[in-house]
Amino acid sequence: MRVISPVYGRPSGWNRLLAPRVVVTAGLSGIRKARFAVIGAGYAGIAVSRRLAELFPDERIVLLESSTVGEGAAGRNSGFLIDQPYAKIQASKDAKEAEWQKLFLQTGRKWLEELVGRHGIDCGWNPCGNYKAAMTEQGEAELKELAGRLKSVGASFEALSRADLADRLGTSFYRAAVWMPNCILVQPAALVRGLADNLPQNVILAEETPVLDVRRGKPHTVVTPQGEVEADMVIFANNSFLGRFGIARSRQITMYTYAGLTPALPAEDADRLGAASDWGMVPAERMGATTRKVGDRYMIRTGFSYERELDNAEVEAALRNAYRKRYPDMPSHELEYVWGGAVSITRNGAPFFGEVGPGLYGVSGCNGSGIIKMSLLGKLLAEHIAGQDSTLLRGCLEWAKPSWIPPEPLRRIGVAMSMRKHIRLVAQARP
Ligand SMILES: Cc1cc2nc3c(=O)[nH]c(=O)nc-3n(C[C@H](O)[C@H](O)[C@H](O)COP(=O)(O)OP(=O)(O)OC[C@H]3O[C@@H](n4cnc5c(N)ncnc54)[C@H](O)[C@@H]3O)c2cc1C
Repeated sequence: MRVISPVYGRPSGWNRLLAPRVVVTAGLSGIRKARFAVIGAGYAGIAVSRRLAELFPDERIVLLESSTVGEGAAGRNSGFLIDQPYAKIQASKDAKEAEWQKLFLQTGRKWLEELVGRHGIDCGWNPCGNYKAAMTEQGEAELKELAGRLKSVGASFEALSRADLADRLGTSFYRAAVWMPNCILVQPAALVRGLADNLPQNVILAEETPVLDVRRGKPHTVVTPQGEVEADMVIFANNSFLGRFGIARSRQITMYTYAGLTPALPAEDADRLGAASDWGMVPAERMGATTRKVGDRYMIRTGFSYERELDNAEVEAALRNAYRKRYPDMPSHELEYVWGGAVSITRNGAPFFGEVGPGLYGVSGCNGSGIIKMSLLGKLLAEHIAGQDSTLLRGCLEWAKPSWIPPEPLRRIGVAMSMRKHIRLVAQARP
């Protein structure tokens, strides 16, 4: 059977921590007419719908989600909103591009912050900064380089040793870290649900409504199991599943990554994770693990697979092992929830954005960090559709150009080679 949307093996742990979702509209019956149909209620789809609704207050926008809001990647992620383009600061020789990226991310963060405040979205919005930590010699060298660049642009940060980290986070696993203030931590399922639940009135959100096909025409016909939407414009905001509709196939791949969340730990065990009630850490190494202390729970995200979600038992063992390595003295390494999520990866890290045919638009290519990025890209796509112009939009049209990826079998071979290299590096890490 042709898979046109993600079907996950297990529910998102974050979403399970919330009250069961009350779906207002499940499925569509008959034929509906709308000016705009948006496919996918993740950060991009919700943002594009919101902005279209503002710019076209007399038009109807139908937003179609195959699952329920909070069960897609938007509610499966680690909840880091980093608004400083560290990678660019580290690697870019083009200071102008780094400046533009910074403006882009900070504008996106401010917009989300404003929406969270305006609608009172209870998502644990916590501007507590984050650690970038190294477990390998190479990672440590990269951190030093990053610290130098942060210093050169006057950005604030704190360099930490293994002993500092043991003191603060209760783990001696890492060789060093840099703490940076430009990060907000959230409960991602609560954030995406809150954003969806506060959409303008002229957006009709249909959950449990997978789009099976889009028949191109005037109007376009969006086909779902029970009904159809006839729309002048269709926006594909369905992450790496754009390719299933023949869009951006040679520009992105689907990777799955995995996360686990412990049960609520007894107070003395939660204390072993450090005195702060919440903290977040991202890896200095590509393909390393992201970790968080979330009140009395610990979260870990690690591992990747290409195109296919792995068996959760295998994933569960890997996550438990990664947790044990970081906290060998913890009495239990059980995880209450384990889940996977799909992300869209492009070869050069640029997202996919823009018109893909008459009345057809696409946005994807989060490259593993899309809460801010895909939200703002969605907003800018709506503004592009409305014919607006801005510095951000112009930069986006210039920058969002993912490079070509060869077809199978070269594609699979390339991914395997790249993963082997990084996994070997990560596996060398010893506490
Ligand atoms: C484990 C994990 C950890 C991550 N950690 C972070 C992090 O800390 N910070 C960060 O910024 N990002 C993180 N990410 C990435 C982040 O989740 C994504 O960048 C973000 O969700 C992408 O937004 P999107 O709107 O493009 O796609 P999505 O959020 O995936 O939304 C697309 C939606 O389209 C729906 N859909 C797909 N096909 C169809 C169809 N045929 N019909 C109808 N609906 C369809 C899907 O169900 C989905 O809900 C992480 C991802 C994972 C998996």
